[in-house]
Amino acid sequence: MFFNWLKKGKKIYSIIYNLCPKCHSSPFWPSSNPYKNIIIKNKGDIGFCKKCNLKYEMEPGFWFGAMYISYAISIFISLSLWVFLNYFFSNISITNIIIIISSFLLLCSPITYYFSRLLWINIFVSYDPKYK
Ligand SMILES: [Zn+2]
Repeated sequence: MFFNWLKKGKKIYSIIYNLCPKCHSSPFWPSSNPYKNIIIKNKGDIGFCKKCNLKYEMEPGFWFGAMYISYAISIFISLSLWVFLNYFFSNISITNIIIIISSFLLLCSPITYYFSRLLWINIFVSYDPKYK
């Protein structure tokens, strides 16, 4: 099947569907909409999984590492946008490119924040097959 790689037990499944990396059953973020997570009352306060009791912040400063993931995502977005702008708008000035890329990164920051934490915790926590 085409979507065979996107099944329960794979890390990409937890990342795409916003699920706890250990049990793949309970949501990791309160909402699957990154913009909605900012305005939710307990903004970004993701304590533990309601099904398997996995504590998401395993040690103090655990989320510090997610910043590097966020940085990598931002660099990827910036370079892609820079190549796109230079290819399709050949006479665009460098000032406009900087303004466009900065604005785009600012608009995308909830998304990079959302995925950086999901990617970061999936590096350290693997799926436990006992939670089927
Ligand atoms: Zn869980």
